[in-house]
Amino acid sequence: MDSNITIIGAGVVGLAIAEKISEGNQNVFLIEKHPSFGQETSSRNSEVIHAGIYYTKDSLKARLCVEGKKLLYEYCRKFDIPHNNCGKLIVATTEEEITVIEGIRQTAIKNGVDDLQVLDRDQIAELEPHIFALKALFSPSTGIIDSHSLMKRFETNYINNGGQVVYGSEVTAIKKISDGYEITLLDADNSNYSFTTGKVINSAGLTSDKVSEMVGIHDDDLKILFCKGEYFRINPPKNKLIRRLVYPVPHKNMEGIGIHVTIDMGGGVKLGPDVKYLESNTYDYRLTASKQEAFYKSAKKFLPFLEFDDIAPEMSGIRPKIQKPGEPLKDYYIMEESKRGFPGFINLIGMESPALTSSISIARYVDNILKSNSV
Ligand SMILES: Cc1cc2nc3c(=O)[nH]c(=O)nc-3n(C[C@H](O)[C@H](O)[C@H](O)COP(=O)(O)OP(=O)(O)OC[C@H]3O[C@@H](n4cnc5c(N)ncnc54)[C@H](O)[C@@H]3O)c2cc1C
Repeated sequence: MDSNITIIGAGVVGLAIAEKISEGNQNVFLIEKHPSFGQETSSRNSEVIHAGIYYTKDSLKARLCVEGKKLLYEYCRKFDIPHNNCGKLIVATTEEEITVIEGIRQTAIKNGVDDLQVLDRDQIAELEPHIFALKALFSPSTGIIDSHSLMKRFETNYINNGGQVVYGSEVTAIKKISDGYEITLLDADNSNYSFTTGKVINSAGLTSDKVSEMVGIHDDDLKILFCKGEYFRINPPKNKLIRRLVYPVPHKNMEGIGIHVTIDMGGGVKLGPDVKYLESNTYDYRLTASKQEAFYKSAKKFLPFLEFDDIAPEMSGIRPKIQKPGEPLKDYYIMEESKRGFPGFINLIGMESPALTSSISIARYVDNILKSNSV
């Protein structure tokens, strides 16, 4: 075998896995089609360290988020990754939303997030004097992180552990062979190259369903739908009026968690992301200036100081959803595929939010799969 384990995709999840498994394994390859890491979803997101509030009890999303948040804060302190445990407010702006907030608190408690505090108007004003809310839930463990620094540290540690990274090479075919897999790459010079590997970890984000199909796994439930989210920034000086993350109560089915306010490590303040399933799976990162009215109206409910001209289009990202429009929230698909006849092939599909928060716990989970007897 040319390699013992090959990881496909150098987003935050693939990098975290690479760092973890290279601690105990020799000859690990990490393959990425772009010239550098984190060029897709991992650099187009809110960079929030989520608390684990909303997810279904006992789901991987809930468990790995609560565990991952703790591990991520520890990792940030250990390796000096810029982050800010700023906290988050979930705000109720109507009487109806006040009842929703209590439901959110109960879900959070079931997930082991037992530090949420219900705040009245005076308490809200002490934390964020410029927002409007009748009541709010305060999540003290939510924060923000510089995700580029995190990914850089994962990559550095992986390389220091002896792992090899191959950038600018796209996996185009995977064939099962007697004791592993043969992987074909298309490199930046348009040349094809094949090598053999004992195990494969598919962490290919938006095209992880396609990579899974390459080996022969065709499953309609694992088809990824591109779901775009756009952001508007709040222009200076009004960006200075908010110091914490501020969220409305979430949408039904958790397709998104509502147009919210995120702050970043550079002092920028963004509104978004919204939720729009794309008609086809195209990398459409274009910004829609005509959404300004809708963003403004949504945010104005809890940011009374906002005027229409205070916001401008900022960026977008695409969620790799396996949840179809209108369906209930779906969990991550993380599976070693022996049952389908592909031993040692581990799929990670539908790795949407909060997979940045959970990257280290996901890596541990995959490492445990590798160490378990069945693989
Ligand atoms: C709008 C938005 C906001 C979000 N906000 C948050 C947040 O605040 N907090 C949070 O925790 N999470 C958030 N997320 C989710 C988080 O960004 C993702 O879950 C995470 O980045 C997924 O990482 P990944 O490594 O799985 O995927 P990616 O970053 O997409 O990486 C996959 C990599 O695989 C590579 N690849 C694909 N196919 C091939 C191939 N055939 N050959 C070689 N390489 C290949 C790609 O080039 C890519 O680099 C958000 C996501 C979106 C879209």
